[in-house]
Amino acid sequence: MKRVYMDANATTPLLPEVMEAMRPYWMECFGNASSIHLDGQQARTAMDRARATLAEFFNCHDAEVVFNSGGTEGDNTAIFGLLHPGDHFITTSIEHSAILRAADRVAQHGVKTTFVAPSASGLIDPADILRALRPETRLISVMLANNETGVLQPVEEIGKIAADTGVFFHIDAVQGAGKVRFDVRRFGCHLLSISAHKMHGPKGTGAMFVRRGTPIEPLLVGGSHERRQRAGTENVPGIVGLAKAAELAMHSLEDGTIDRLAKLRDRLEAGVLQIPGTGVNGAQLPNNLGAPGPSHLGTGESMNPKDGCNPVLGAPSASHLGTWESTNPVPRAANTTNIWFDHVEGEALVISMDLKGVAVSGGSACHSGATEPSHVLMAMGLDKARARASLRFSLLKTATEADVDYVLKVVPEAVEHLRAISPVAAGTAG
Ligand code: PLP
Repeated sequence: MKRVYMDANATTPLLPEVMEAMRPYWMECFGNASSIHLDGQQARTAMDRARATLAEFFNCHDAEVVFNSGGTEGDNTAIFGLLHPGDHFITTSIEHSAILRAADRVAQHGVKTTFVAPSASGLIDPADILRALRPETRLISVMLANNETGVLQPVEEIGKIAADTGVFFHIDAVQGAGKVRFDVRRFGCHLLSISAHKMHGPKGTGAMFVRRGTPIEPLLVGGSHERRQRAGTENVPGIVGLAKAAELAMHSLEDGTIDRLAKLRDRLEAGVLQIPGTGVNGAQLPNNLGAPGPSHLGTGESMNPKDGCNPVLGAPSASHLGTWESTNPVPRAANTTNIWFDHVEGEALVISMDLKGVAVSGGSACHSGATEPSHVLMAMGLDKARARASLRFSLLKTATEADVDYVLKVVPEAVEHLRAISPVAAGTAG
């Protein structure tokens, strides 16, 4: 049976070039990059080259790149490495659990967190970040691209707020890597985290941009690796693979691959929306920009977006966007769409499509096994039933027209079948 993998936001396969780049570093060039002999120096040279590639990818100095084990470590490092008892932390209610659970942890040590909620379109309003600031705010952390909806957050505007107010700014850019051109100077962040396996690199490897002079405590201590910022013998094959993936990602952003991907995603989306009782989560600004659902996450406070925006920021806000809502789509990562299907149980649809050879995800794949509806969709104001009846399609950058055709054949059949046997659709539910 043909299989089409449309769950790239969960993970991606290595590209052949990445595999080839890594291959020598498992056996022939296995040295420890800290050793002074030739074997060690081969590993060190490979790491130096990889660091230069990542510096180009982030647009920073080589010395501002810290290799680590991936997105969770980067997110945790930003929070545990910067916050102290009595500090205030601002993040959003749509972050990955690597941020949300870390915020829970520091709450036990006297750090207060404000969770800013998105608008119904999935966008965070920078004016809400500004309103959440307190004299004791030390860190803001906002994701670049949401893993479930693909919605791109206005990080540049938030970076300006951080700069104006002297607050540290971390970006979880795990889902933006390879989909959006990076420039940490333009983003205005002090810290930024990426993960190789979301961009056709190996699992268990990532990197962090750490702006020079940022007083971050290392999460792991021991050897003096990574300029004492991250102890542990470096994963040289993983780092080489990450750098190759980053190099290929930079090409894809230039050579039209990502534009082609956006067109494929749009065709997929338009095709799926032909099915009655469907809609996109986080694509267009809805007519009603009213308050989203509750975002009672963790132990901190939550904020709902309010109308209005600091005009100095020039940032999108509910009141600004209201005038161009239906003609202006919300910016999204090129590969992602999140679609609700009324009268369908999302998990049943995932399984039914899997049986027909299509891999997609309901809610966030990082939480698979959890039965609670997606916290992201709930924060955007969806009711539980609609959040549960939502699927995420996230295309690999190698996706083809034939893949989309196949999925467009499978989805309507699966939805029709499930609706036919659904007590909800039949109106017989208790
Ligand atoms: N941040 C975001 C937005 C993610 O989507 C993920 C993984 O899905 C992570 C962080 C965690 O990354 P990793 O799997 O490398 O630990």
